[in-house]
Order: sequence, then C-alpha cells, then structure tokens
Amino acid sequence: MIPVETFRGKSVALFGLGGSGFATAEALRAGGARVVVWDDAEKAVEKARSAGFDATDLRTIDWKGMAALVLSPGVPLTHPAPHWSVDLARKADVEIIGDIELFCRERKRLAPDAPFIAITGTNGKSTTTALIAHILREAGRDVQLGGNIGTPILHLAAPAGDRIHVIEMSSYQIDLAPSLAPSIGLLLNLSPDHIDRHGTMEHYAAVKERLVIAADTAIIGVDDPHSEAIAVRLDHSGKPIVRISLSENLPAGIHVRGREIFAWRGHGRKLADLAGIGSLRGDHNAQNAAAAVAACLRIGLDEAKIQAGLASFPGLAHRMEQVGRVGKALLINDSKATNADSTEKALLSFDEGIFWIAGGKAKDGGIRPLAPYFPRIAKAYLIGAAMDDFAATLEGKVPYERAITLQVALESAARDAKNADFDEPVILLSPSCASFDQFPNFEVRGAMFRELAEKLPGYSAQ
Ligand code: ADP
Repeated sequence: MIPVETFRGKSVALFGLGGSGFATAEALRAGGARVVVWDDAEKAVEKARSAGFDATDLRTIDWKGMAALVLSPGVPLTHPAPHWSVDLARKADVEIIGDIELFCRERKRLAPDAPFIAITGTNGKSTTTALIAHILREAGRDVQLGGNIGTPILHLAAPAGDRIHVIEMSSYQIDLAPSLAPSIGLLLNLSPDHIDRHGTMEHYAAVKERLVIAADTAIIGVDDPHSEAIAVRLDHSGKPIVRISLSENLPAGIHVRGREIFAWRGHGRKLADLAGIGSLRGDHNAQNAAAAVAACLRIGLDEAKIQAGLASFPGLAHRMEQVGRVGKALLINDSKATNADSTEKALLSFDEGIFWIAGGKAKDGGIRPLAPYFPRIAKAYLIGAAMDDFAATLEGKVPYERAITLQVALESAARDAKNADFDEPVILLSPSCASFDQFPNFEVRGAMFRELAEKLPGYSAQ
C-alpha cells in the first residue's frame, strides 16, 4: 500500500466504496488523514464501518472543513449529470480528485523521477498494460502493474528509484487527476465510447489527450482521426512523440507491416516480429504490441529482450485467449467481446474455418456490421436471448444452429470442426453480446467455456 501522506492531519470526504474506493480510504487513513466515507449501497457503508471508518452521509457533513472530495471513477463527475456529492463539494469550493491524483502527489514527494508509464485509449488498454508489464518483468525490471486493471493503484508498492509503475487509466480516472504527468504516456486509439459519461466525442478526446500532453514522452496510435489530431497538436510542444501506425503513410515512428514491427515505415530497423505469437493475433494486437515495443525501448530495453517478452506473453483471460485444442481445432475464448466491434477483431484474426459461438443479450445493431466477415465463418452456433435476431441476420449466408446453451454449442462445434476440411479450424467463443441473460458476467461465461472445453474428448492444453 502507498500511504497518502499529502493529506496528513486533514479531513477528506470520499464517495464510492467499490474496490478502488475502499483501497483509497485505507491509503488515506494510513497516511494520517481523517477520512469520512459514504456510498449509496448500504452494504458498502456497513463494510467500511466494520473496518473502523467514519461512514457518514456526506449530505450531512460540514464541507467547509474538508480538504478534498475523493471520488471513485465510476461516479459521474460531469455527465449525464454531476453526482450530488460533486455539487456539494463544488459549492463549498472543495477540490475533487481521484486515486490516480493521490498517487501522482505521492510520487512527486517520494520519487519524482521514478518511471511511470500510463496507458489509455478506447480499446486495448488492458492488453497493452499487461504486455508492457510482462516484457519489463521478464527483462528483470522491478514492475508494479495496476490502476484500471487488477490492483488499485494505491495498493501497489510506492514509487522508488528504478521501480516502474505501469498503470492502465480510464478516461474517468484521468478526469480526476489534474496533476497527472507520467514519464511515458500512451494513447492507443480513440473511437466513440462512453459518450454518455463525457457528453461529446470532443470532451472524451480532450480528457484522454491530457494523459499524453503532460507526459515526458508521448506514444500515440495515429490510425484514427482523433488521435492523429492530438499528435499533430503535440508536435508543436517540442516533446518527444512516437507515432504508432499500421498504415503505410506514417512519416516517422513505429510502423506495423503484417506481423512485423519496424522503426519508421519499414525502411528502418526491424524491431520485433509477432509471427507465431498466439496471444497477440490480429491487427488490433499488433497495434497494442507496437505501442508496448515503443514504451519498452524508451525505458531502455534492448530489442532482443523485447522480442523475448512478446514471445512469452501469456495473454489476458477472455480476450482471444487460446484455451487449448480439440483434435486439430484451436479453442479461443473471446468472452470479453460483448459487441460487434470486438467480435470484428476476432473474426479478422482468422482467414477461414471459424466455428463461431455467438449470442447472449444483444446490443443495438446485433451482428449486422459483421456481414463482410461471414465468408470466414464455417458455421455459427447461437445461444441465449439473441438467437432469433442473429439467426435472421445469418439466414441464407452462414449455416447456423440454434444451440441455446454454451455446452450444446461447444459440443456441436467440436464435432463439426473435427469432420471439417480445414488445416486449422477455430472454435471461437466471441459472443457479440452481453452475458447477463445466461451468466453473471463475461468472466463466468469465459470460465465456463474453458471448463467445458477441457472436458471435450480429444482436448489438449497446447
Ligand atoms: P480495454 O482494456 O481497453 O477494454 P482490452 O485489452 O481488454 O481493452 O481488449 C478488449 C477488446 O478490445 C479485445 O477483446 C478486442 O476485441 C478489442 N481490442 C483490443 N485491442 C484493440 C485495439 N488496439 N484496437 C481496437 N480494438 C482492440
């Protein structure tokens, strides 16, 4: 834990007692602050009371005595409307910050030069964060991994010396961190997402931009117009910027061509090769890997160490996760793909022979945007509430079966893949749907896929 000493002897209000909120309350208390905590959920309040916190409805406290309101990132700061605690703090002129801000202040105090890599973007944050941490650890570096992934930032070890903090950040967390200034800031990509929480694309992009503007070195994926515009604005700052692109038109930076990663357009040095790395399939992962390569080079790792780290990356669970084989067929768990955009990335990763398990609680538009990739699909196995909708989209284009449950879908897919005439068929769970009609969350759905896969006759882990 990182005790937050910057509020020693002061009173701090904290709203939102989820995982990171509770960790923040502990870190503030450990650093000598008086913390008053609250949450709309009674259970969370009770838990805080039993841990010895002063849990008092923040509508009843004297805000004049508060040095800050520490907000959980899930609580609306601006859109669709500020949370009531935000209104109360603003009225009393109390600053509103989050756990990342507390970390930044402690880093400034303890070790302002300690390496701090911050990662954001609409997609690929967790993969890239985990990949950077993995490469650095494999190279023997002292790494702390957390933030929006895994461990809350204030539960990590404190910044010190050469210790590298590799931190995933959502736009909500950036919005609550006014003094965020990482040594390396990564912006992977920007597309409309969470607009409900940011009002407009412009505001969303402006929040994400803050992470790279304040960084000593900025690494930016420039294949979308919003990120490209940010890179152009940063050009004038005189700071080092590394552009990442899969397009041939990159003037300078790191270019991905096929599975190879080059410095500058492929005319320069080959930095890394992703061929045969099962955990980094697809162009989307090439973008993530190129950004990770750029960050690790900046830290000072040599190319051989970076290549070794890429090659041994185990991948993240439920994101194009290879869970083994049944006969010659690959088994891929992409349960995290809860919309067509994500499933598009999965379908693009395999040219043919896909035995596709899809369905659940459908999003608007269903799987209609995936029509260009239907020729890659050998057969679809439909499950859950979206079955009829998806069947109507596939009718006459892709053979399908109404499997209803994941178990039936997987067993049918395994049987069909075994008899099919493909060199390496792929049994892919990439549902394009939320899981809530049949499972508590996408993690349980993915774990069930793995469990069922391991019971298939002819299953092997490799
Ligand atoms: P995040 O943490 O930003 O949600 P993840 O690394 O967990 O991202 O990946 C979630 C999903 O987003 C993946 O399963 C894949 O479908 C998609 N994805 C990952 N990386 C990228 C990328 N660079 N560009 C576009 N989509 C991506």
